[in-house]
Amino acid sequence: MYAEADYLPLSALQHWVFCPRQCGLIHLEQVWNENRLTAEGRIIHQRVHEMSDERRSDIYIVRGLRIYSCRLGLIGQADVVEFHRAPTGISLSDAEGMWQPYPVEYKRGSPKMDACDEVQLCAQAICLEEMLGIAVPLGAFFYGRPRRRKEVVLTDELRRKTEESAHQLHEMFQRGRTPGASYEKKCRACSLYNQCLPKTTGKKKNIEHYLQMAYELPREEMIP
Ligand code: SF4
Repeated sequence: MYAEADYLPLSALQHWVFCPRQCGLIHLEQVWNENRLTAEGRIIHQRVHEMSDERRSDIYIVRGLRIYSCRLGLIGQADVVEFHRAPTGISLSDAEGMWQPYPVEYKRGSPKMDACDEVQLCAQAICLEEMLGIAVPLGAFFYGRPRRRKEVVLTDELRRKTEESAHQLHEMFQRGRTPGASYEKKCRACSLYNQCLPKTTGKKKNIEHYLQMAYELPREEMIP
C-alpha cells in the first residue's frame, strides 16, 4: 500500500513497460518530444475526455473518470468507463438495477505487439476494483486504425505483471535515476530516439567501443 503523497501518474506505468529509459526521461527528467504521432494521441485523449457522459440503452458511458489505487500507488484518468447492466454489479444513483464497470482505453494506432497497453488497462481495472469494491474481469481498447474494439481478459498473469511493473516504477522514482539505454527494435518507433541516442549511450557502449566505431580500427590496434 502506498501513501497518497507517493502516488505516481498512471501514464508512467505504460511508459515504464514500453521502455524504462523512456519512462525515466519523461517522468524524471521532463524530456518530451512532440511529433505527429504523440500529438495525435494527445488530441484523441483530450477529445474523449471532453465529450459528455451518456446513456445508451443498457450502457452508461462515463468519460475522463478520475481513478486511483493505493495498492499500485497510481493515480490518473480513465478515457471511458462503461457501466453495463448486469445481474450483479454496483448500483448507480440515477439508474435502477445493477451495473458492471468496464474500462475502455482509446488508442491512436493499431494494436501493439508488447504488453504496455494491456498493463495500462489492467491498472485502470485494479483502480476501479479498489474504488468500487467489485471485480472487473474485462476491459477493451478502441483502436483508431483500423477502427475497432478489442476486448481484453484481465488474467491473473496480467495482474501480476501490472503489480510488478508498478512496484518497479516506484523503485525507479525512489532511486531518482533514469535507466540506461538498450538498443532494440522498438527504439525506431520511439519519440525520444534523438534525445536518448540508444546506439551511442547503450549499456554495452564504452570508450573502447566508441573509438573502434569512430576510427574503424581493428581490435588489436586499440589503445590498451
Ligand atoms: S530510444 Fe530506445 S532505449 Fe531510448 S528511450 Fe526510446 S525505446 Fe528506450
